[in-house]
Amino acid sequence: MTASLPRYLAEAQSQPMTDKQAQDALIEDGRLLFARPAEFMLSVVKMDALPAPDLPEVCFAGRSNVGKSSLINALTNQKGLARASNTPGRTRELNYFNLSDRIRIVDLPGYGYARASKSMIENWTRLTRQFLRGRAPLRRVFLLIDSRRGIKDTDETIMAMLDETAVPYQIVLTKIDKLKKGELEKVQAQTLTKIARRPAAYPSVIITSSEKKTGLDLLRAEIVSLALTENQL
Ligand code: GDP
Repeated sequence: MTASLPRYLAEAQSQPMTDKQAQDALIEDGRLLFARPAEFMLSVVKMDALPAPDLPEVCFAGRSNVGKSSLINALTNQKGLARASNTPGRTRELNYFNLSDRIRIVDLPGYGYARASKSMIENWTRLTRQFLRGRAPLRRVFLLIDSRRGIKDTDETIMAMLDETAVPYQIVLTKIDKLKKGELEKVQAQTLTKIARRPAAYPSVIITSSEKKTGLDLLRAEIVSLALTENQL
């Protein structure tokens, strides 16, 4: 005869994980993934130079100055990992980072750079479109929006491109430390309204501040949920 478990343990074992427990487990897994150093892999200016499509990828996109490099650096706890996109030379590189061979982060060049020439914009559009269309391992794009500005026309252009290429994307509001609570609620509501009818957009928005380290745990949890699990390595 086997010894029976105490009732509370038997019940705990037979219960499926609650949403809260599942979320907590993902947050912990995300923390662990980002506790290891993220490695810069390479900068790519042409599609044929992309790494082999052997790991899932997530991509960060947004207007230049939206806070993309600050967010990647805050997520990875590595100050100089991603560099600001608001220098002309950096507007056409896709930068790849490897997280423990479980997932790669792709930093797309920032768009909407005020001094970008027509040919720079054309190059950006061509490379981005090719990348979004043809990149099989791409699981999700995090589209960064400055919370003080909300979604602008240039953001709508990339959202249309993402809808057209059927790449799932999720809005991440940045720099929320600059807003009062009421203002933040307003921009969140406006953002949700704007994405409601967009087919490839996630219906939830992540709010972040790299400065105050807000929302980083939730963003890490989203990323780890798309990564290879330890067992798949
Ligand atoms: P990128 O061009 O999108 O890579 O933007 P950066 O990360 O270089 O950030 C642009 C500017 O916004 C810099 O002056 C940052 O210090 C500032 N910034 C970035 N993130 C935050 C944030 O969370 N809060 C505040 N207050 N400022 C931020």
